[in-house]
Amino acid sequence: MSRIASVLLPMPLPEAFDYAEPEGMGLALGDQVAAPLGPRTLRGVVVGLREAAGGNRPLKPVEARLEEPALPEHTLEFIQWAARYSVDAPGAPLAIALRGARAPKPKPHKVVETTGTAPARPTPARAKVLAAAAEARLSPADLARAAGVGAGVVKGLIEEGVLAARLVETEASFDPPDLSRTGSALNASQAAAAEALRAAVREGGFNVTLLDGVTGSGKTEVYLEAAAAALAADPEAQVLALLPEIALTQAVIARFAERFGAAPGEWHSDIAPPARRKVWEGVASGRCRIVVGARSALFLPFRKLKLIVVDEEHDGSYKQEEGFIYQARDLAVVRGKIEDAAVILASATPSLETLRNAETGRYRWLRLSARHGTAELPDVELVDLRESPPDTGRWLSPPLVRAMGETLARGEQTLLFLNRRGYAPLVLCRACGERMCAPDTESWLVEHRYTGRLVCHLTGFSMAKPDKCPHCGAHDSLASIGPGVERVEEEARLLFPQARIAVFSSDTLFDAREARRLIEAMESGEIDIMVATQAAAKGHNFPNLTLVGVVDADLGLRGGDLRAGERTYQLLAQATGRAGRHERPGRALLQTYAPEHPVMQALKAQDRDAFLQAEMAERELAGLPPFGRLGAVIVSGEDPPGLEAFVQAMAKAAPNTEGVEVYGPADAPLGLVRGRRRKRFLVRAERTVDLSAYLAAWRARVKPPASIRVAIDVDPYSFL
Ligand SMILES: [Zn+2]
Repeated sequence: MSRIASVLLPMPLPEAFDYAEPEGMGLALGDQVAAPLGPRTLRGVVVGLREAAGGNRPLKPVEARLEEPALPEHTLEFIQWAARYSVDAPGAPLAIALRGARAPKPKPHKVVETTGTAPARPTPARAKVLAAAAEARLSPADLARAAGVGAGVVKGLIEEGVLAARLVETEASFDPPDLSRTGSALNASQAAAAEALRAAVREGGFNVTLLDGVTGSGKTEVYLEAAAAALAADPEAQVLALLPEIALTQAVIARFAERFGAAPGEWHSDIAPPARRKVWEGVASGRCRIVVGARSALFLPFRKLKLIVVDEEHDGSYKQEEGFIYQARDLAVVRGKIEDAAVILASATPSLETLRNAETGRYRWLRLSARHGTAELPDVELVDLRESPPDTGRWLSPPLVRAMGETLARGEQTLLFLNRRGYAPLVLCRACGERMCAPDTESWLVEHRYTGRLVCHLTGFSMAKPDKCPHCGAHDSLASIGPGVERVEEEARLLFPQARIAVFSSDTLFDAREARRLIEAMESGEIDIMVATQAAAKGHNFPNLTLVGVVDADLGLRGGDLRAGERTYQLLAQATGRAGRHERPGRALLQTYAPEHPVMQALKAQDRDAFLQAEMAERELAGLPPFGRLGAVIVSGEDPPGLEAFVQAMAKAAPNTEGVEVYGPADAPLGLVRGRRRKRFLVRAERTVDLSAYLAAWRARVKPPASIRVAIDVDPYSFL
């Protein structure tokens, strides 16, 4: 009797395809195989095996079983769950899960070994080489270096047959964590939280804890103890820590390395393919027991995942907005459930969703009260820009400039915070009013002075800044409107020419290493004033930073998005929390045109709970998350009449279900991107409704023509 293998391919296909298993191949669930699809051969994964019933038409056979680690059953289950939830093809998350498996293997390397033959002519140099070679298998160059002799000595011994060189595969080796080490000293609040987490981990099974503590309360030390408990409880247990930013990943990797005397596996987009391959294999084999990484690390093939930490769980970067759309914090909880693992969500400003789960008892809630060590929370002052406006064409108000001068005079540091990249967010023509946009797109071009270019942050389009208006042809008429970090840096240099000033923004930093260098320069006091986007608002620890200036505290409040208030609060609380983390008291100045706004008042009073209560009540009234569910459907096409006809048909096809309201179709706020018109539906559902199933049923009722794309975003974060 032959068998049929269902093979999932990392492609946007609705389901797994059936293939015949060739005689004697002995496939098992999770095996990676080569399977034909049309004229191509693709790497796929076996997700089902069944006996073939007679009389079916013949299936194409699986071409080969690959000599690669199989995907564990739990990983497969997670992939399929994630696809169903996101109303996407299971091949989309599978492609993420196989990213490491498809990366090239590290090249084999040459090592030398002793052959047992004694050298004909022993010398002290040769003796040193033989002694070193007996200790470890090294490359010829490393062996010479280890023995402290010239390369010729090693070469001579190889030629004589005393040593032999051979090629070995680079093994995905990871040093095991040293569990005899102890962590740093904890204060009473930390110690209590650490003990509760250790107990949760030892108890085993799925459970979720919100680790809730103000910036600087030492959450990392606490979850490191939970990791230690998980690793100690089971010699095969694995731990995953997720971080929202690559720059932050670096810092946390260092903390893990220090705590366990071994570097964890590192996983994010900046990792070179061979290193990625090494981590993937290490995780699949169980040799890599700790992974620190960005959201896609959630799709690694863990064998025995026992603890997942989501640090800065409120961070919007956990939401993947392109390709396979998912919220990594939510999927981390799902993966924890599938793996029967403990999950820790850590934040100083938890998301409303997580807080709601903590309030209702679905999550355990641990609060860290005191700041670590002697540090105190900074004083927060609101600068009313209507009363103290900056000079024309300037962005720093007199009170903020004064505070910067005082801080500089004391030899302390200032962080100016503006969540806007580039020099100016808008370039317009003074002659005709033309706003510079990317071709066929409604988003403004942002001026970047460092590169002299105008860049579209949405589509990636860029052009040199022209010297005349492309619309009316007027010369020297293009004006830069509004501030970006580069412009604020320019102003700071004019005001304080003697100060050492740096910009921290994703455009001015090329990679994680450079970001780390700048963070270290700030930590060691080599920078007086840092102008930064949100990247620097998170998690870093600058001992001499005593002043935070928020250039435009109102920025996040504009543009009607459901999380605007929450996000602004989180960002500003994080940014102001940077100040005064050590012995020196800190101060934060927020420039605002709306000092009476509840977000500003809550920040000034440092009353997080009052802010959250107000926000929670508003959401409950409107039935918005976490009290209801939201889904967005974005339909785009190049031909406006065809698009209009399709969205009208789609509106009619919406299933009529109790507890679900469909709004739209409406023009999306960004109505034109890369020449495609965009329309949006918004779906609001009661909490009890399976929104994913509803959206899947809706989409199954319509057949979009090839020129039209339908994208579904469950729990949208972007409303553009
Ligand atoms: Zn013009």
